[in-house]
Amino acid sequence: MLTGKVAVVTGSTSGIGLGIAKVLADKGCMVVINDHTHSDDARAIAADLAKETGAEVRYVGADMSKAEECANLITEAEKAFGRVDILVNNAGIQHVEKIEDFPDGKWNAIIAINLSSAFHTTKAAIAGMKARGHGRIVNIASAHGLTASPFKSAYVAAKHGVVGLSKVTALEAAEAKVDVTCNAVCPGYVWTPLVEAQLEDQMRANDMTKDEVIDKVMLTRTPTREFATVEQIGETTAFLCSDGAAQITGTTISVDGGWTAM
Ligand code: NAD
Repeated sequence: MLTGKVAVVTGSTSGIGLGIAKVLADKGCMVVINDHTHSDDARAIAADLAKETGAEVRYVGADMSKAEECANLITEAEKAFGRVDILVNNAGIQHVEKIEDFPDGKWNAIIAINLSSAFHTTKAAIAGMKARGHGRIVNIASAHGLTASPFKSAYVAAKHGVVGLSKVTALEAAEAKVDVTCNAVCPGYVWTPLVEAQLEDQMRANDMTKDEVIDKVMLTRTPTREFATVEQIGETTAFLCSDGAAQITGTTISVDGGWTAM
């Protein structure tokens, strides 16, 4: 379905980003994965993904908190594969603390990585997409791009910003009369290694069983009481990248088990 497309996924050596990269590789894309570590481990993840899917996969180290490295990620992808057809802005971090105690450095880092990086990569990639008449930009926002929780000021602000940026990107592409779309995917709670690791801590801290932590702590705002999977986020992203989604632009798709319906 996406055979021969070139996809860049930011923050994709673990969790949702890696899940998206795998789905896109499985569907025939050439994929650039990224994180900021420049490590052998990250390169090994790219090699494993290539072996598992049969796709061409490259690792490009770039720190998404830095504008010039965001632009360089796109340049390196274009050097490796000739162009960028699909850009998935996924890199993100979190910090949970009340506003009066929220460290300024954490605020700046979250805004830079979760929001500004999507602007800088889009700025670098969209001219090429417009010139070729085709492109897909998918920004991984969050249920927190549509609603809020206490103690997540930077994250909620950044994710609402990502939803707004997606709309502007979509409108500018539409004005150019090209098949370039931009949308935001808004996951609720997704089962990732990070969440799995938090489970043990929560079980200890709350003196609860695994099922109790999942039901009473993690999924209290998820009506289905189920985590989304990284594969589901990948499949949603792949759909938005398909020709069938050409008229879906400037909007959000929630993958949140009904969270934002409440
Ligand atoms: P994760 O921590 O498993 O993965 C984040 C990835 O980003 C990692 O590969 C990490 O190395 C990379 N990264 C971190 N800082 C970076 C930087 N400065 N430059 C480049 N890469 C960097 O997280 P995840 O849970 O998979 O989250 C991925 C995205 O999905 C984030 O934007 C997050 O806000 C969003 N999201 C996650 C959930 C969830 O429940 N896990 C829910 C909603 C939205």
